[in-house]
Amino acid sequence: MPELSKRVGTFTDSVIRRMTRISDSCPGSINLSQGFPDFDPPKALMDALEEVAHKGPHQYSVTFGAENFRAALAKKVRKNFNRDIDPENEIVVTCGGTEAMMAAMMTICNPGDKVMVFSPFYENYGADAILSGAEPIYIPLVPPTYSFDINLIENGFKEGAKAIIICNPSNPCGKVFTKEELTAIGELAIKYDAFVVTDEVYEHIVYKPYKHISVAGLPGMFDHTITCNSLSKTYSITGWRLGYIIGPKDVIEGAKKVHDFLTVGAAAPLQEAAVAGLTLPESYYEELGELYTKKRDFFLKGLDEIGLVHTVPQGSYFVLVDISPFLALEQFRGWTDLRFCEWMVKNIKVAAVPGSSFFKEDVNNLIRLHFARSEEVLQEALNRLKKLENLLK
Ligand code: GLN
Repeated sequence: MPELSKRVGTFTDSVIRRMTRISDSCPGSINLSQGFPDFDPPKALMDALEEVAHKGPHQYSVTFGAENFRAALAKKVRKNFNRDIDPENEIVVTCGGTEAMMAAMMTICNPGDKVMVFSPFYENYGADAILSGAEPIYIPLVPPTYSFDINLIENGFKEGAKAIIICNPSNPCGKVFTKEELTAIGELAIKYDAFVVTDEVYEHIVYKPYKHISVAGLPGMFDHTITCNSLSKTYSITGWRLGYIIGPKDVIEGAKKVHDFLTVGAAAPLQEAAVAGLTLPESYYEELGELYTKKRDFFLKGLDEIGLVHTVPQGSYFVLVDISPFLALEQFRGWTDLRFCEWMVKNIKVAAVPGSSFFKEDVNNLIRLHFARSEEVLQEALNRLKKLENLLK
């Protein structure tokens, strides 16, 4: 067979999505690996989708996003950015946050450019860096508070880093970056004339008293920030694959070209239907926050009762659980976290993501679970996880 590109040999498929496939192949397993909700989107969106099925559009929308979708988006994000967003020049609609991040990286990176990435990181950034030719410089987020050393970031910029990627709220550690932290990073980006690329897909899943702040809305930061986002988590429509990039005109002009040849455009009927989500009242986002707060409190309490040591997310719907006590047992000695997760799907019937997928450091003792599930499902998952504790007796 002819040889494949060297590029495809340099990264693996996503372990997050692989765990979902493994979970799907194991009857009765509860999938707490790839994060997506098991409940319906808002009714307004489902009704709009039904209407669109008959009324259309069924053909391509404008490559950069349907006009009404971009207009609704610009209106929705205004508050966050503290300025008007020009839907013609400052937005490009993508196929999910995944394409948004990839297109952003492809737009700003030349092969060999350095880009700072916090560790732990969302798995996709590794492939984004490889495919755009960027070389990551990892900045540790240090548990338990997941704080970072700003001097390391300044050093990165001094070394010539073109950008820093911030996942805020962070997947997988649940950190919500403070205004002070974002301002300090922003000041460095301005000083060294670099970009901040943000992934804000969990912006509305934040637990009180924490508050999500968009870097692009901080004074002087719009021209240095490329904001990537998606409707997936905010409206519980991960399968619709609707995302977007907001940024300064020149960046968006470049990103539009990348997007044009990568995917042509996001699904036209789904953009049309999703306008019903973008125009929901402010109370919708408050209720979403409350819904996830209940789920988080319920799930974390259950983990505590079992005796599992875990992170307490400030935002997002992920929790990292320490599996060191199990790896110390004769039964699991020398196992990787991936092997443990594969064992867990088959024997405990709960799917998790091995923590090593998110860390540059050699971390083998964590697994990631998400709690975007109904309370009944979460309770059943907890009942099953309790069996793990029995192993320690
Ligand atoms: N962000 C989700 C997760 O980390 C999944 C997103 C995706 O698979 N595209 O589980």
